[in-house]
Amino acid sequence: MAYSWGNKRRFHSLADYYKQRYGSRIQKVSVNAGFTCPNRDGTKGTGGCTFCNNEGFNPSYCHEESSVNEQIEKGLRFLKKRYRRARTFVAYFQAYSNTYADIEILKPKYEQALSHPEISGLSISTRPDCVDAEKLDYLAELADKNIISVEYGVESCYEDTLEKINRGHSFVDSVKAIEQTAAKNLHVGIHLIIGLPGESREQMLEQSKIISGLPINSVKFHQLQIVKGTQMAEDYMKHPDKFRFFEPEEYVGFMVEFLEKLRPDIAIERFAGEVPPAYNLRKSWNGLRSDQMIILIEKALERKNTWQGKFFSD
Ligand code: SF4
Repeated sequence: MAYSWGNKRRFHSLADYYKQRYGSRIQKVSVNAGFTCPNRDGTKGTGGCTFCNNEGFNPSYCHEESSVNEQIEKGLRFLKKRYRRARTFVAYFQAYSNTYADIEILKPKYEQALSHPEISGLSISTRPDCVDAEKLDYLAELADKNIISVEYGVESCYEDTLEKINRGHSFVDSVKAIEQTAAKNLHVGIHLIIGLPGESREQMLEQSKIISGLPINSVKFHQLQIVKGTQMAEDYMKHPDKFRFFEPEEYVGFMVEFLEKLRPDIAIERFAGEVPPAYNLRKSWNGLRSDQMIILIEKALERKNTWQGKFFSD
């Protein structure tokens, strides 16, 4: 039996959605366009989010001293070796906040990426407080001819958590940005961190219902990991008892419940993240990779004979 998303997998995978829609896997080529972040430059704060060390997430081919096109060329060479069947590529503006500049500064960077003959679109990662109507109108124009998605770091649906992690914006800001972006018919993705200190399992689970009420197209989950060189790493070393981490089995069980309550048309981009070992303060999950986590979750869904959206209600 095929589910409402058109195949027999028990969750709605973003990779499958793109394959159905564009005929091939979509691979993101990371680009560091040299933007900064209002939570670092003093506009919203100076220390940044307590979990953030951008160096830990920047691929080796991606350095802001190279032009956007040079980074794309290097990234394509790397990705074509690794994913031999990839045919469609989008430029992933990943580092820091990629709409945090005047529109006249954004345009040439985005357009340089789109002018590359092998780039079919843009995936733009940003903060919810770094968009406005002018930028969204421009992205909507680009979306007439290109694959465009906007990814917001929502991280948590709870205001007290956002304060604790020094996020510098509220969940109300996230809802506003998501609604404005969806109103322009742009693809809206969000990031959520599962396991942030101070949240109970029930609260984390409740977020499934909360995000199901928002006009989002996709979600990317990260389990909490402690990245070296962050405020959170310092906090963890001083008070390890204030942190609680999901073991892989617990995380699988949690994700199954989360999926059961999640709106079926929301596509899952990833279930877990991987901090490069050199940046990972607390080695966990015994080296279990994120693609192995997908397999474990799919097996658990099958054992329980359940699926995404089974218990979703409006
Ligand atoms: S996570 Fe994003 S918003 Fe937070 S400090 Fe890092 S770049 Fe800025």
